[in-house]
Amino acid sequence: MSSLFPALTDGPADRPALRFGERALTYGELASAAGAVAEGLKGARRVAVWAVPAPATAVAVTGALLAGVAVVPLNPKSGEKELGHILADSAPDLLLTAPGEELPAPLGGLPRLEVDPAAAGALPDDRSRSAEDPALIVYTSGTTGPPKGAVLPRRALATTLDALADAWQWTADDVLVHGLPLFHVHGLVLGTLGPLRRGGSVRHLGRFSAEGVARELGDGATMLFGVPTMYHRLAEALPTAPGLAKALAGARLLVSGSAALPVHDHERIAAATGRRVIERYGMTETLMNTAVRADGEARPGTVGVPLPGVELRLVEEDGSPVASYDGETVGEIQVRGPNLFTEYLNRPDATAAAFTAEGWFRTGDMAVRDPDGHVRIVGRKATDLIKSGGYKIGAGEIENALLEHPGVREAAVTGEPDADLGERIVAWVVPADPQSPPATEELAAHVARRLAPHKRPRVVHRLDALPRNDMGKIMKRELRHD
Ligand code: ATP
Ligand code: MG
Repeated sequence: MSSLFPALTDGPADRPALRFGERALTYGELASAAGAVAEGLKGARRVAVWAVPAPATAVAVTGALLAGVAVVPLNPKSGEKELGHILADSAPDLLLTAPGEELPAPLGGLPRLEVDPAAAGALPDDRSRSAEDPALIVYTSGTTGPPKGAVLPRRALATTLDALADAWQWTADDVLVHGLPLFHVHGLVLGTLGPLRRGGSVRHLGRFSAEGVARELGDGATMLFGVPTMYHRLAEALPTAPGLAKALAGARLLVSGSAALPVHDHERIAAATGRRVIERYGMTETLMNTAVRADGEARPGTVGVPLPGVELRLVEEDGSPVASYDGETVGEIQVRGPNLFTEYLNRPDATAAAFTAEGWFRTGDMAVRDPDGHVRIVGRKATDLIKSGGYKIGAGEIENALLEHPGVREAAVTGEPDADLGERIVAWVVPADPQSPPATEELAAHVARRLAPHKRPRVVHRLDALPRNDMGKIMKRELRHD
């Protein structure tokens, strides 16, 4: 297989590759430091990387990938229990960290290699590596159950990044801004390895802020990758942040993913900047499945069309493909293609259950497709599909409707057992003004007017904040257990 990062060996050495705050590395410096990491990994088969947002993380991952050593990115904010689970499950030979990191107890027993972004070594040639060699083992976000380690081969990384390059006309001239963590595929594969594979550059904000976004997009950056909570913060900041609207308007691409972007935030950003945020849809196990193309239409609430090479279909509960793409018929998304993982580590049971006999991966996400192929995700099968009064109702559209109410800042919708309806719709809202939260009847009437009477919430809980994970995803499991 060809090299994962041709620009490290073929491109000009003085081109910028990475910048994290004050620390910047050119392609030449990155190649040299990654070479030093590779030299330190002789004999290793699998390593864990303490994925702080710093150049050392990017150097560690690039060096290991080029050396053919599989990488397990660790979330530095994980609790000890989760870290213990991931370490026992993945059994890395070594831990790579930035210099001087303090580490929690479960990591104590592991041999450690500190990564120096200024070190120099010879870069291994990765062209002899097999496309099926494991490159990354990434643990899922744990939104629906304990995290599972998805084994991603080199082929999946190359495929997904090249498909996005095609969809977004992503080139070496692009400069990406991101403020995402580096232990999931969004921030690591798309946000870090993506620019490096193209020969472009990435500027990491360290901590996400509207000022940081305005500064970098105002200073030559061309693209922004973020999760919906970041776009929400940008939408909130727009009326008062000087230069933000102009900076966003000047970007080539504003991309959201990892969870559904609320229509309300999409519309607010469009109104203030004239720019539409585009969505892409992916998973740890599949990397990217669909995207709104750079020259495509960013319809609010849609995640675009299947990427080149990705087969996507919607199926009924019995596994048969849905009869028509009419924008109405809900089915589970199944995907097939070279972007997929090979297995869940140490989980043959879960791996077998995830695939059909014909090799389709069951995503657990429910969607409709517009007649022209645009995919509209309605929610997850496990937590977002409410069966009430004979209807199948997606939580997403009710959440979007609630968010359009001026008294609602955040909203999540779940179902709970109901003797009469099967399940009843329950809304969890964070009021815009805690002193005068909107009444249940008021919100029910608002949803009934916008959508349909049977989609109105029967119960409304008011909270100070919704439980979210490090990617800003709403942890609905925790809402149910309240
Ligand atoms: P776990 O599998 O451990 O329960 P998780 O599914 O949240 O956690 P990830 O692999 O990080 O772990 O997330 C993939 C999921 O994120 C998808 O299955 C989908 O539900 C959601 N998702 C990603 N992008 C989008 C998007 N643009 N719109 C809506 N949902 C999205
Ligand atoms: Mg999942």
